[in-house]
Amino acid sequence: MSLDYGQRHRRELTAAALLAERYKVPQQVVEIRGWARGYLTGSALTDSLVPVPKEAYDEASMRTTVVPNRNAVLLNLAAAVASAQGLEWVAYAAHSGDHFIYADCRPLFVSTTQALWCAAELEVRLLAPFLDHSKAEIVVIGCGLGVPFNLTWSCYLGGDRPCGGCGSCIERRKAFEAAGVEDPYCGGP
Ligand SMILES: [Zn+2]
Repeated sequence: MSLDYGQRHRRELTAAALLAERYKVPQQVVEIRGWARGYLTGSALTDSLVPVPKEAYDEASMRTTVVPNRNAVLLNLAAAVASAQGLEWVAYAAHSGDHFIYADCRPLFVSTTQALWCAAELEVRLLAPFLDHSKAEIVVIGCGLGVPFNLTWSCYLGGDRPCGGCGSCIERRKAFEAAGVEDPYCGGP
């Protein structure tokens, strides 16, 4: 399930489609772009007036990429769909490097979301296997699983190719370097 919320990097939806095709699973795109354009303002990811950080993240630049409560919106939509379709799990790839700025990536958020679903009498469970892992550790795990990293997307600018210079591209490069793995990051098959 992918959320089209008017993100500048809509290219990630194409990456998700390529991955879904690779693993022969359906991709559901939930489209709230029209609504989000008018209301999810103030973030570099959704607001054309707020520039994407073009250097290594510091606290102030990382904060411009916060879309308040975005992941709660996405996860609760996913839980509703999973419940309606009789599915047992919703998987969520929040990681430890996001905890500092992104409240909706922290362990408290994950456990509270699970508690909310229980209160709503959903049978759905929230799986967040990378909650205590760094990006570099995730790269190592992904290599072991044969993840086609060339199909994945991280850049916040959303061009045809990764820009290499935004905060997200820089974080990705550092993670692969720390893992000792070459990144086939080219944005396509
Ligand atoms: Zn970039």
